[in-house]
Amino acid sequence: MIEVEHLTKRYGTHLAVSDLSFQIESGQIYGFLGPNGAGKSTTMNIMTGCLSATEGHVRIGGYDIFEQPEKAKRLIGYLPEQPPLYQNETPLEYLRFVGEAKGVRGEELKRQIQDAIQRTGIEKVCRRRIAALSKGYKQRVGIAQALLGSPEVIILDEPTVGLDPIQIIEIRNLVKELGKTHTVIFSSHILSEVQAICDKILIISKGRLTALGTPEELERQLRSAGEIILTADATAERVEDILAAVPHITEISQPETAAGGAVTLRLKTDSDDIRAASRSIFFAFAGANTALLELSVRKASLEDVFLELTESGPAEVFSKEGDEEA
Ligand code: ADP
Ligand code: MG
Repeated sequence: MIEVEHLTKRYGTHLAVSDLSFQIESGQIYGFLGPNGAGKSTTMNIMTGCLSATEGHVRIGGYDIFEQPEKAKRLIGYLPEQPPLYQNETPLEYLRFVGEAKGVRGEELKRQIQDAIQRTGIEKVCRRRIAALSKGYKQRVGIAQALLGSPEVIILDEPTVGLDPIQIIEIRNLVKELGKTHTVIFSSHILSEVQAICDKILIISKGRLTALGTPEELERQLRSAGEIILTADATAERVEDILAAVPHITEISQPETAAGGAVTLRLKTDSDDIRAASRSIFFAFAGANTALLELSVRKASLEDVFLELTESGPAEVFSKEGDEEA
């Protein structure tokens, strides 16, 4: 449905988006996850034709957003980070204005407005001034306008920011509902939110794509993202010899030798099951007649991995199968 190829955006010398490539398939909910400043809004603004790119291509339903903007834009409804709501109008007036701007007229416009009002649950407030609405309702009005013109794709830039907890849950439920009839892309800096709603997650950090997968795929990769910490009663060389025969170890830290000669080190594994990996380590030491004084597993939380991915670039544990070796 959407193809983004080698997208790059510079603001002056500042590189906001760097060589971003991904595809969006129809009928799924996608989450753009990344901390503030990651490049989410820039990417969305380019995908929706609101901002030019420095390099790269965006195709919506086969139409190039830069070369055939009218055809491409007809397929997208967009709620920007700061939606241009007219405070003195009512939602009904505003929706009529936006619908007409999108080229919808007459009975069809009335039908679409009624449908958008009903889907976003703003029936009760649609004759009040927008300025008098709560932030949650303003956000719904913003989503309602994105639905006008019957676009296939709905793009929502951080729709839950600044809302109270109840409004957040309501907007999340609304996004899930929209996902039943539309392809939805929404951005967030909250991991749990994206996990709860999305079929696919794209993690963006410093303008780059650092992970893409279903929540289950990311979780599976997470299970092996922890560390195993061990202390053995042996020399560093001996410990490394024993570990060399253990499968699925991807990283071994510098050994630290404590007073009394015990050696401590941390290691990472690419095994799906970090406990199975520590079991193999235990038996390798037992088989080598070497005492393990300590063996512990520090599981990475989702937060740990998100932080690692967004602060220092792609963690090794997240490199996808089939990726080229560096
Ligand atoms: P996000 O939406 O993920 O918070 P943005 O796309 O808004 O990230 O911003 C990405 C980077 O580009 C940030 O470093 C931001 O400061 C910078 N940036 C965004 N808009 C502009 C602009 N109009 N001019 C200059 N720099 C910008
Ligand atoms: Mg943003």
